[in-house]
Amino acid sequence: MSSALKIAPAEIVQELLRLTLVQNALRYFEDQAEAITKEHIEICSIPAGPFSEQKRSEYLHRKFVELGLTAVEIDEEGNCFAVFPGSSHKPLMVVSAHLDTVFSAETDFTVHRQGNRLFAPGISDDGCGLAALIAIARCLIQTGMRTAGSILFVGTVGEEGEGDLRGVRYLFSRGQWANRIDSFMSFDGPGIDRITNQALGSRRYRVKLEGAGGHSWGDFGLPNPVHALGGAIAKLASYPLPNKSRTTFNVGKIVGGTSVNAIPSEASMDVDLRSVDETELQRLDAYFRRAVHESSERENGKRRPGDSPLTVNIEVLGNRPTGQTPANSFLVELAQEATRAVGGLAQLEQSSTDSNLPISLGIPAITIGAGGSSGCSHTLDEWYEPTDREKGLQRGLLTILGTVGLFAELSQNRNAVASDP
Ligand SMILES: [Zn+2]
Repeated sequence: MSSALKIAPAEIVQELLRLTLVQNALRYFEDQAEAITKEHIEICSIPAGPFSEQKRSEYLHRKFVELGLTAVEIDEEGNCFAVFPGSSHKPLMVVSAHLDTVFSAETDFTVHRQGNRLFAPGISDDGCGLAALIAIARCLIQTGMRTAGSILFVGTVGEEGEGDLRGVRYLFSRGQWANRIDSFMSFDGPGIDRITNQALGSRRYRVKLEGAGGHSWGDFGLPNPVHALGGAIAKLASYPLPNKSRTTFNVGKIVGGTSVNAIPSEASMDVDLRSVDETELQRLDAYFRRAVHESSERENGKRRPGDSPLTVNIEVLGNRPTGQTPANSFLVELAQEATRAVGGLAQLEQSSTDSNLPISLGIPAITIGAGGSSGCSHTLDEWYEPTDREKGLQRGLLTILGTVGLFAELSQNRNAVASDP
Protein backbone atom coordinates (compact mmCIF):
# COMPACT_ATOMS: atom_id res chain seq x y z
CA MET A 1 0.00 0.00 0.00
CA SER A 2 1.44 3.40 -0.93
CA SER A 3 1.86 6.14 1.64
CA ALA A 4 -0.80 8.20 -0.15
CA LEU A 5 -3.45 5.68 0.89
CA LYS A 6 -2.65 6.23 4.56
CA ILE A 7 -4.24 9.66 4.41
CA ALA A 8 -7.71 9.63 5.87
CA PRO A 9 -10.51 9.68 3.30
CA ALA A 10 -11.95 12.78 4.99
CA GLU A 11 -8.74 14.70 4.27
CA ILE A 12 -8.64 13.49 0.71
CA VAL A 13 -12.17 14.75 0.06
CA GLN A 14 -11.36 18.09 1.69
CA GLU A 15 -8.25 18.42 -0.46
CA LEU A 16 -10.23 17.65 -3.59
CA LEU A 17 -12.86 20.25 -2.72
CA ARG A 18 -10.17 22.92 -2.40
CA LEU A 19 -8.88 22.46 -5.95
CA THR A 20 -10.22 24.80 -8.63
CA LEU A 21 -10.08 22.02 -11.21
CA VAL A 22 -12.31 19.82 -9.05
CA GLN A 23 -14.66 22.69 -8.22
CA ASN A 24 -15.11 23.29 -11.95
CA ALA A 25 -15.81 19.61 -12.52
CA LEU A 26 -18.42 19.52 -9.76
CA ARG A 27 -20.11 22.62 -11.17
CA TYR A 28 -20.13 21.01 -14.62
CA PHE A 29 -22.94 18.66 -13.57
CA GLU A 30 -25.15 21.59 -12.54
CA ASP A 31 -24.44 23.55 -15.72
CA GLN A 32 -25.03 20.50 -17.91
CA ALA A 33 -28.16 19.20 -16.16
CA GLU A 34 -30.38 19.53 -19.21
CA ALA A 35 -27.84 17.96 -21.58
CA ILE A 36 -27.39 15.03 -19.18
CA THR A 37 -31.14 14.46 -19.09
CA LYS A 38 -31.24 14.56 -22.89
CA GLU A 39 -28.59 11.85 -23.09
CA HIS A 40 -30.39 9.87 -20.40
CA ILE A 41 -33.54 9.88 -22.57
CA GLU A 42 -31.56 8.87 -25.65
CA ILE A 43 -29.93 5.80 -24.13
CA CYS A 44 -33.12 4.62 -22.38
CA SER A 45 -35.09 4.79 -25.63
CA ILE A 46 -32.94 1.99 -27.01
CA PRO A 47 -34.47 -1.41 -26.22
CA ALA A 48 -32.41 -3.65 -23.91
CA GLY A 49 -33.76 -6.80 -22.32
CA PRO A 50 -32.16 -9.74 -20.58
CA PHE A 51 -29.74 -11.36 -23.06
CA SER A 52 -30.54 -8.68 -25.65
CA GLU A 53 -28.47 -5.64 -24.67
CA GLN A 54 -26.62 -5.42 -27.98
CA LYS A 55 -28.18 -2.26 -29.43
CA ARG A 56 -27.75 -0.34 -26.20
CA SER A 57 -24.19 -1.60 -25.92
CA GLU A 58 -23.44 -0.38 -29.45
CA TYR A 59 -24.93 3.01 -28.63
CA LEU A 60 -22.70 3.32 -25.57
CA HIS A 61 -19.72 2.31 -27.71
CA ARG A 62 -20.44 5.17 -30.15
CA LYS A 63 -20.86 7.55 -27.24
CA PHE A 64 -17.54 6.55 -25.63
CA VAL A 65 -15.72 7.00 -28.95
CA GLU A 66 -17.39 10.39 -29.50
CA LEU A 67 -16.31 11.53 -26.03
CA GLY A 68 -12.69 10.70 -26.77
CA LEU A 69 -12.18 7.80 -24.34
CA THR A 70 -9.56 5.23 -25.37
CA ALA A 71 -9.56 1.43 -25.90
CA VAL A 72 -13.31 1.48 -26.56
CA GLU A 73 -14.57 -2.04 -27.13
CA ILE A 74 -17.46 -4.47 -26.81
CA ASP A 75 -16.20 -7.75 -25.38
CA GLU A 76 -17.35 -11.28 -26.22
CA GLU A 77 -19.96 -11.28 -23.46
CA GLY A 78 -21.47 -7.98 -24.68
CA ASN A 79 -20.06 -5.54 -22.09
CA CYS A 80 -19.06 -2.17 -23.49
CA PHE A 81 -15.97 -0.60 -21.98
CA ALA A 82 -13.65 2.35 -22.43
CA VAL A 83 -10.65 3.77 -20.65
CA PHE A 84 -10.06 7.23 -19.24
CA PRO A 85 -6.28 6.95 -19.00
CA GLY A 86 -4.43 8.43 -16.08
CA SER A 87 -0.66 8.73 -15.90
CA SER A 88 -0.64 4.99 -15.06
CA HIS A 89 -3.00 1.99 -15.21
CA LYS A 90 -2.39 1.60 -11.47
CA PRO A 91 -4.66 1.86 -9.66
CA LEU A 92 -7.36 0.84 -12.10
CA MET A 93 -10.91 1.55 -11.01
CA VAL A 94 -13.99 0.22 -12.77
CA VAL A 95 -16.95 2.60 -12.90
CA SER A 96 -19.98 0.79 -14.24
CA ALA A 97 -23.74 0.68 -14.79
CA HIS A 98 -25.80 -2.15 -16.21
CA LEU A 99 -27.20 -2.14 -19.74
CA ASP A 100 -29.97 -4.70 -19.24
CA THR A 101 -33.48 -4.24 -17.90
CA VAL A 102 -36.01 -6.78 -16.62
CA PHE A 103 -38.22 -6.15 -19.67
CA SER A 104 -38.15 -8.07 -22.94
CA ALA A 105 -36.57 -6.24 -25.87
CA GLU A 106 -40.02 -6.05 -27.55
CA THR A 107 -41.27 -3.73 -24.79
CA ASP A 108 -42.00 -0.12 -25.75
CA PHE A 109 -38.99 1.76 -24.36
CA THR A 110 -40.14 5.19 -25.55
CA VAL A 111 -39.43 7.80 -22.89
CA HIS A 112 -42.33 10.10 -21.99
CA ARG A 113 -41.65 13.37 -20.24
CA GLN A 114 -44.28 14.89 -17.97
CA GLY A 115 -43.06 18.08 -16.34
CA ASN A 116 -39.83 17.17 -14.64
CA ARG A 117 -40.55 13.46 -14.59
CA LEU A 118 -39.35 10.87 -17.10
CA PHE A 119 -41.35 7.69 -17.68
CA ALA A 120 -40.06 4.51 -19.32
CA PRO A 121 -39.26 0.91 -18.38
CA GLY A 122 -35.72 0.92 -17.03
CA ILE A 123 -35.49 4.73 -16.91
CA SER A 124 -34.13 4.50 -13.37
CA ASP A 125 -32.85 0.91 -13.17
CA ASP A 126 -30.39 1.36 -14.62
CA GLY A 127 -30.93 4.22 -17.09
CA CYS A 128 -29.78 6.81 -14.58
CA GLY A 129 -26.61 4.78 -13.97
CA LEU A 130 -25.80 4.75 -17.68
CA ALA A 131 -26.48 8.50 -17.85
CA ALA A 132 -24.05 8.92 -14.93
CA LEU A 133 -21.29 7.01 -16.76
CA ILE A 134 -21.61 9.22 -19.81
CA ALA A 135 -21.87 12.42 -17.76
CA ILE A 136 -18.81 11.63 -15.65
CA ALA A 137 -16.70 10.59 -18.64
CA ARG A 138 -17.71 13.78 -20.44
CA CYS A 139 -16.97 15.89 -17.38
CA LEU A 140 -13.48 14.40 -16.95
CA ILE A 141 -12.62 15.09 -20.56
CA GLN A 142 -14.18 18.52 -20.94
CA THR A 143 -12.79 19.93 -17.72
CA GLY A 144 -9.29 18.66 -18.59
CA MET A 145 -9.02 16.44 -15.51
CA ARG A 146 -5.73 14.56 -15.17
CA THR A 147 -5.73 11.54 -12.90
CA ALA A 148 -2.91 9.42 -11.51
CA GLY A 149 -4.61 6.02 -11.89
CA SER A 150 -7.00 5.12 -14.70
CA ILE A 151 -10.74 4.62 -14.93
CA LEU A 152 -12.34 1.76 -16.82
CA PHE A 153 -15.92 2.73 -17.71
CA VAL A 154 -18.11 -0.33 -18.29
CA GLY A 155 -21.71 -0.84 -19.37
CA THR A 156 -22.35 -4.40 -18.15
CA VAL A 157 -24.74 -7.03 -19.47
CA GLY A 158 -26.73 -9.54 -17.43
CA GLU A 159 -27.08 -7.81 -14.06
CA GLU A 160 -30.78 -8.56 -13.67
CA GLY A 161 -32.40 -11.91 -12.81
CA GLU A 162 -31.32 -14.78 -14.98
CA GLY A 163 -28.43 -12.78 -16.38
CA ASP A 164 -26.75 -13.94 -13.16
CA LEU A 165 -24.04 -11.25 -13.32
CA ARG A 166 -22.64 -12.76 -16.53
CA GLY A 167 -21.22 -9.37 -17.59
CA VAL A 168 -19.10 -8.69 -14.50
CA ARG A 169 -18.32 -12.39 -14.23
CA TYR A 170 -16.70 -12.19 -17.67
CA LEU A 171 -15.02 -8.86 -16.92
CA PHE A 172 -13.31 -10.25 -13.81
CA SER A 173 -12.57 -13.78 -14.99
CA ARG A 174 -11.93 -13.85 -18.72
CA GLY A 175 -11.89 -10.36 -20.22
CA GLN A 176 -8.66 -8.56 -21.06
CA TRP A 177 -8.96 -6.56 -17.82
CA ALA A 178 -9.34 -9.57 -15.54
CA ASN A 179 -6.71 -9.54 -12.76
CA ARG A 180 -5.90 -5.88 -13.40
CA ILE A 181 -8.81 -4.23 -11.59
CA ASP A 182 -8.06 -2.70 -8.17
CA SER A 183 -11.49 -1.42 -7.21
CA PHE A 184 -15.04 -1.32 -8.50
CA MET A 185 -17.95 1.07 -8.23
CA SER A 186 -21.29 0.76 -9.98
CA PHE A 187 -24.13 3.23 -10.27
CA ASP A 188 -27.48 1.51 -9.91
CA GLY A 189 -30.71 3.43 -9.41
CA PRO A 190 -31.18 6.93 -7.93
CA GLY A 191 -30.37 8.69 -4.66
CA ILE A 192 -27.38 10.13 -2.85
CA ASP A 193 -27.48 8.29 0.49
CA ARG A 194 -27.17 4.60 -0.27
CA ILE A 195 -23.81 2.84 -0.38
CA THR A 196 -24.18 -0.87 -1.01
CA ASN A 197 -21.06 -2.50 0.41
CA GLN A 198 -22.60 -5.85 1.33
CA ALA A 199 -23.39 -8.43 -1.29
CA LEU A 200 -26.64 -10.27 -0.80
CA GLY A 201 -26.14 -13.82 -2.03
CA SER A 202 -28.78 -15.83 -3.80
CA ARG A 203 -29.27 -19.22 -5.39
CA ARG A 204 -31.90 -19.71 -8.03
CA TYR A 205 -33.20 -23.01 -9.31
CA ARG A 206 -35.69 -24.50 -11.73
CA VAL A 207 -37.03 -27.77 -10.38
CA LYS A 208 -38.60 -30.06 -12.94
CA LEU A 209 -40.47 -33.27 -12.11
CA GLU A 210 -41.47 -35.64 -14.89
CA GLY A 211 -43.61 -38.76 -14.96
CA ALA A 212 -45.70 -40.90 -17.29
CA GLY A 213 -48.91 -38.87 -17.00
CA GLY A 214 -52.34 -40.37 -17.62
CA HIS A 215 -56.07 -40.29 -16.91
CA SER A 216 -57.12 -38.83 -13.58
CA TRP A 217 -59.57 -41.71 -12.94
CA GLY A 218 -58.31 -44.58 -15.04
CA ASP A 219 -54.64 -44.16 -14.14
CA PHE A 220 -55.10 -43.03 -10.56
CA GLY A 221 -52.09 -44.12 -8.55
CA LEU A 222 -49.55 -42.93 -11.09
CA PRO A 223 -47.05 -40.54 -9.46
CA ASN A 224 -48.33 -37.00 -9.91
CA PRO A 225 -45.56 -34.37 -10.38
CA VAL A 226 -47.83 -31.49 -9.31
CA HIS A 227 -48.68 -33.30 -6.06
CA ALA A 228 -45.00 -33.93 -5.42
CA LEU A 229 -44.15 -30.32 -6.18
CA GLY A 230 -46.94 -29.19 -3.81
CA GLY A 231 -45.43 -31.29 -1.03
CA ALA A 232 -42.00 -29.78 -1.60
CA ILE A 233 -43.43 -26.25 -1.59
CA ALA A 234 -45.30 -26.87 1.67
CA LYS A 235 -42.11 -28.17 3.25
CA LEU A 236 -40.08 -25.18 2.02
CA ALA A 237 -42.75 -22.76 3.29
CA SER A 238 -42.31 -24.18 6.81
CA TYR A 239 -38.54 -23.66 6.82
CA PRO A 240 -37.32 -22.70 10.31
CA LEU A 241 -35.71 -19.30 9.68
CA PRO A 242 -32.61 -18.25 11.59
CA ASN A 243 -33.10 -15.51 14.21
CA LYS A 244 -30.19 -13.28 13.22
CA SER A 245 -29.18 -13.48 9.57
CA ARG A 246 -31.97 -12.37 7.27
CA THR A 247 -32.82 -15.31 5.05
CA THR A 248 -35.63 -15.58 2.50
CA PHE A 249 -37.11 -18.08 0.04
CA ASN A 250 -39.61 -17.71 -2.75
CA VAL A 251 -41.31 -20.01 -5.21
CA GLY A 252 -41.88 -17.40 -7.88
CA LYS A 253 -43.29 -19.43 -10.72
CA ILE A 254 -45.00 -22.80 -11.12
CA VAL A 255 -45.89 -24.47 -14.39
CA GLY A 256 -47.40 -27.85 -15.10
CA GLY A 257 -50.29 -29.96 -16.31
CA THR A 258 -52.66 -29.69 -19.23
CA SER A 259 -56.17 -30.53 -18.03
CA VAL A 260 -58.29 -30.96 -14.91
CA ASN A 261 -58.81 -34.65 -15.57
CA ALA A 262 -55.28 -35.57 -16.59
CA ILE A 263 -52.40 -36.61 -14.35
CA PRO A 264 -49.69 -34.20 -15.51
CA SER A 265 -46.57 -35.61 -17.11
CA GLU A 266 -44.52 -32.70 -15.89
CA ALA A 267 -44.40 -29.81 -13.42
CA SER A 268 -41.78 -27.22 -12.64
CA MET A 269 -41.11 -24.37 -10.24
CA ASP A 270 -38.59 -21.51 -10.08
CA VAL A 271 -37.15 -20.95 -6.63
CA ASP A 272 -35.13 -18.05 -5.22
CA LEU A 273 -33.16 -18.54 -2.00
CA ARG A 274 -31.30 -15.70 -0.30
CA SER A 275 -29.34 -14.99 2.83
CA VAL A 276 -27.00 -12.35 4.16
CA ASP A 277 -24.91 -15.22 5.53
CA GLU A 278 -23.24 -17.78 3.27
CA THR A 279 -23.54 -20.60 5.84
CA GLU A 280 -27.26 -19.92 6.29
CA LEU A 281 -27.68 -19.91 2.52
CA GLN A 282 -26.04 -23.34 2.33
CA ARG A 283 -28.28 -24.62 5.12
CA LEU A 284 -31.41 -23.36 3.33
CA ASP A 285 -30.13 -24.79 0.05
CA ALA A 286 -29.65 -28.26 1.56
CA TYR A 287 -33.10 -28.15 3.21
CA PHE A 288 -34.73 -27.16 -0.08
CA ARG A 289 -33.06 -30.00 -2.02
CA ARG A 290 -34.06 -32.49 0.65
CA ALA A 291 -37.66 -31.22 0.52
CA VAL A 292 -37.80 -31.82 -3.24
CA HIS A 293 -36.29 -35.30 -3.09
CA GLU A 294 -38.31 -36.45 -0.07
CA SER A 295 -41.58 -35.25 -1.53
CA SER A 296 -40.86 -36.97 -4.86
CA GLU A 297 -39.92 -40.20 -3.09
CA ARG A 298 -43.11 -40.06 -1.05
CA GLU A 299 -45.12 -39.68 -4.25
CA ASN A 300 -43.15 -42.49 -5.92
CA GLY A 301 -43.66 -44.69 -2.86
CA LYS A 302 -47.43 -44.70 -3.48
CA ARG A 303 -47.16 -45.91 -7.07
CA ARG A 304 -48.61 -49.18 -8.36
CA PRO A 305 -46.33 -52.05 -9.36
CA GLY A 306 -44.96 -51.46 -12.84
CA ASP A 307 -45.58 -47.69 -12.87
CA SER A 308 -42.55 -45.59 -13.73
CA PRO A 309 -41.32 -43.19 -11.02
CA LEU A 310 -41.03 -39.42 -11.23
CA THR A 311 -37.67 -38.06 -12.27
CA VAL A 312 -36.24 -35.01 -10.55
CA ASN A 313 -34.07 -32.40 -12.22
CA ILE A 314 -32.78 -29.36 -10.34
CA GLU A 315 -31.27 -26.83 -12.74
CA VAL A 316 -29.18 -23.91 -11.45
CA LEU A 317 -30.53 -20.60 -12.80
CA GLY A 318 -28.27 -18.38 -10.75
CA ASN A 319 -25.65 -18.35 -8.05
CA ARG A 320 -24.64 -15.01 -6.58
CA PRO A 321 -22.02 -14.96 -3.86
CA THR A 322 -22.46 -13.32 -0.45
CA GLY A 323 -19.81 -11.10 1.15
CA GLN A 324 -18.87 -7.50 1.92
CA THR A 325 -16.43 -4.67 1.43
CA PRO A 326 -15.70 -3.80 5.09
CA ALA A 327 -17.26 -0.60 6.43
CA ASN A 328 -13.80 0.59 7.51
CA SER A 329 -12.19 -0.05 4.12
CA PHE A 330 -10.75 2.89 2.22
CA LEU A 331 -13.35 2.80 -0.55
CA VAL A 332 -16.37 2.65 1.76
CA GLU A 333 -15.03 5.40 4.02
CA LEU A 334 -14.21 7.54 1.01
CA ALA A 335 -17.73 7.09 -0.40
CA GLN A 336 -19.17 8.05 2.99
CA GLU A 337 -17.07 11.23 3.06
CA ALA A 338 -18.11 12.07 -0.50
CA THR A 339 -21.74 11.52 0.49
CA ARG A 340 -21.38 13.97 3.38
CA ALA A 341 -19.67 16.50 1.11
CA VAL A 342 -22.75 16.72 -1.12
CA GLY A 343 -25.17 16.85 1.81
CA GLY A 344 -26.24 13.21 1.81
CA LEU A 345 -26.71 10.85 4.75
CA ALA A 346 -24.50 7.87 4.10
CA GLN A 347 -26.31 4.57 4.59
CA LEU A 348 -24.47 1.29 4.25
CA GLU A 349 -26.70 -1.31 2.70
CA GLN A 350 -26.92 -4.83 1.47
CA SER A 351 -28.18 -5.77 -1.95
CA SER A 352 -27.64 -8.01 -4.91
CA THR A 353 -25.78 -6.04 -7.59
CA ASP A 354 -22.84 -6.24 -9.96
CA SER A 355 -20.64 -5.57 -6.88
CA ASN A 356 -21.36 -9.11 -5.60
CA LEU A 357 -18.83 -10.52 -7.99
CA PRO A 358 -15.77 -8.35 -7.21
CA ILE A 359 -16.65 -8.56 -3.49
CA SER A 360 -16.51 -12.37 -3.72
CA LEU A 361 -13.02 -12.01 -5.20
CA GLY A 362 -11.87 -9.73 -2.38
CA ILE A 363 -11.74 -6.64 -4.61
CA PRO A 364 -13.11 -3.51 -2.89
CA ALA A 365 -16.49 -2.78 -4.50
CA ILE A 366 -19.55 -0.65 -3.83
CA THR A 367 -22.77 0.22 -5.62
CA ILE A 368 -24.19 3.71 -5.21
CA GLY A 369 -27.17 5.72 -6.43
CA ALA A 370 -26.74 8.12 -9.33
CA GLY A 371 -28.74 11.01 -7.82
CA GLY A 372 -32.34 12.08 -8.43
CA SER A 373 -35.35 10.02 -7.38
CA SER A 374 -37.51 7.29 -8.84
CA GLY A 375 -40.47 4.97 -8.33
CA CYS A 376 -42.29 1.89 -9.68
CA SER A 377 -38.99 0.18 -10.45
CA HIS A 378 -39.25 -3.08 -12.46
CA THR A 379 -42.74 -2.10 -13.70
CA LEU A 380 -43.93 -0.51 -16.94
CA ASP A 381 -44.77 2.65 -14.95
CA GLU A 382 -41.18 3.19 -13.82
CA TRP A 383 -40.26 6.88 -13.48
CA TYR A 384 -37.21 8.99 -12.74
CA GLU A 385 -36.95 12.59 -11.60
CA PRO A 386 -33.59 14.30 -12.24
CA THR A 387 -33.97 17.05 -9.60
CA ASP A 388 -30.67 17.25 -7.66
CA ARG A 389 -29.12 14.61 -9.90
CA GLU A 390 -25.89 16.62 -9.84
CA LYS A 391 -25.35 15.70 -6.19
CA GLY A 392 -25.24 12.01 -7.08
CA LEU A 393 -22.77 12.68 -9.88
CA GLN A 394 -20.66 14.90 -7.63
CA ARG A 395 -20.40 12.26 -4.93
CA GLY A 396 -19.54 9.68 -7.58
CA LEU A 397 -16.82 11.89 -9.03
CA LEU A 398 -15.32 12.66 -5.61
CA THR A 399 -15.19 8.94 -4.84
CA ILE A 400 -13.54 8.20 -8.18
CA LEU A 401 -10.96 10.99 -7.87
CA GLY A 402 -10.22 10.02 -4.28
CA THR A 403 -9.60 6.45 -5.40
CA VAL A 404 -7.47 6.92 -8.52
CA GLY A 405 -5.83 10.15 -7.31
CA LEU A 406 -5.08 13.33 -9.19
CA PHE A 407 -1.96 13.79 -11.22
CA ALA A 408 0.80 15.96 -9.65
CA GLU A 409 -1.20 18.66 -7.91
CA LEU A 410 -3.00 16.45 -5.39
CA SER A 411 -0.13 14.07 -4.81
CA GLN A 412 2.03 17.03 -3.75
CA ASN A 413 -0.63 18.02 -1.27
CA ARG A 414 -0.78 14.45 -0.06
CA ASN A 415 2.96 14.33 0.55
CA ALA A 416 2.74 17.57 2.50
CA VAL A 417 0.01 16.15 4.68
CA ALA A 418 1.80 12.83 5.11
CA SER A 419 5.02 14.39 6.35
CA ASP A 420 3.22 16.69 8.76
CA PRO A 421 1.79 14.52 11.53
ZN1 LIG B 1 -30.25 -2.34 -11.32
